[in-house]
Amino acid sequence: MKTFNFNAGPAALPEEVLHQLSESVINLDGSGLSILEIPHRASQFTDLLNEASFLVKELARLDDDFEVLWLPGGGRLQFCMLPINFLKDGKKAGYIHSGHWAEAAEKSAKFYGETEIISSSATEHFKALPLLENQYPGYVYLHLTSNNTIEGTQWKTLPANLGSPLIVDMSSDIFGQHRDYKTCDLFYAVAQKNLGAAGVTMVAIRKDFLAKHKTDVPPMLSYAHQVKNNSMLNTPPVFSIYTCLLMLRWLKKNGLQNVINTNAEKARKVYEAIEASPYFNCPVAPADRSVMNVVFTGKNESIEKEFLKFAEQNNVLNIAGHRSVGAFRISLYNGVSEAAVEHLVSVMNQFTPSATY
Ligand code: PMP
Repeated sequence: MKTFNFNAGPAALPEEVLHQLSESVINLDGSGLSILEIPHRASQFTDLLNEASFLVKELARLDDDFEVLWLPGGGRLQFCMLPINFLKDGKKAGYIHSGHWAEAAEKSAKFYGETEIISSSATEHFKALPLLENQYPGYVYLHLTSNNTIEGTQWKTLPANLGSPLIVDMSSDIFGQHRDYKTCDLFYAVAQKNLGAAGVTMVAIRKDFLAKHKTDVPPMLSYAHQVKNNSMLNTPPVFSIYTCLLMLRWLKKNGLQNVINTNAEKARKVYEAIEASPYFNCPVAPADRSVMNVVFTGKNESIEKEFLKFAEQNNVLNIAGHRSVGAFRISLYNGVSEAAVEHLVSVMNQFTPSATY
């Protein structure tokens, strides 16, 4: 059965990558071994890990002043590692409060030191991005979430020269939107959306910023120790990292700019279908709408129930949204094909509720 998956993560991967993965589980590159069996300290794996790190730097146009890490523990461990490594007594970390995940990052950091919400759009229920002043000097770092996965808002450009080091959670839009990655001192992304499979988080750190790390940190939680050990203090999630490598190769082969243009086009079509429908409504401020997670509601609850059923009958899967913002969320990450979006839009256009509301 052909299905069309719009899950927010773990997300759809390109068919080509899925075929390569399934081949590698039986026989990795003709080695006679499965990707699940290879020794992680042998060059058979370290070459793959190093290639993945190299491709991150190439696609993000980073120079050798950045280190790339592949860490376990998801985005939520990064919420803790950041303050554990950088938040010092008598100093503050500033958080831009743009939604659920931004809030979770700040709440985790509070366990380790002083934080401050420097801007928030909570009073607008995160339907728009918070406004930023020009400068926020004196913070150990400022934390921003580039794409708010649940609320469906996205920074179109990253704020530059804020006066303090900038850390960006790019979990739901890395390599999906044009970015000047050099604006960041550290950026991270969980793999299970735009980058690969769940189980690993990519972290890129500017060496100058890394040098400011605290030293009283256990090795597993220390960026500096992880860098020294090339992300292999413990046995790394080999399969997840390999999936990221295949996605990175796919991005390079297709051309990052082409993928970004396709993403913009996919999103345009879905927003257009929402606007054109008498049954749907997009609550997100037009200027801040995400190209990765399109959030919308039905005009009433019965329409929402009927559309969810209709979509499932037409093999459109995993579109239920977070109730706090919208009944539906269509995730359009890099691995979601244009054909899947065409199908979704035709299902949206065909939808007519059984009763007149
Ligand atoms: N940050 C963002 C922007 C996210 O969307 C998510 C997960 N959806 C996370 C962090 C948390 O990731 P994890 O579940 O891997 O901890």
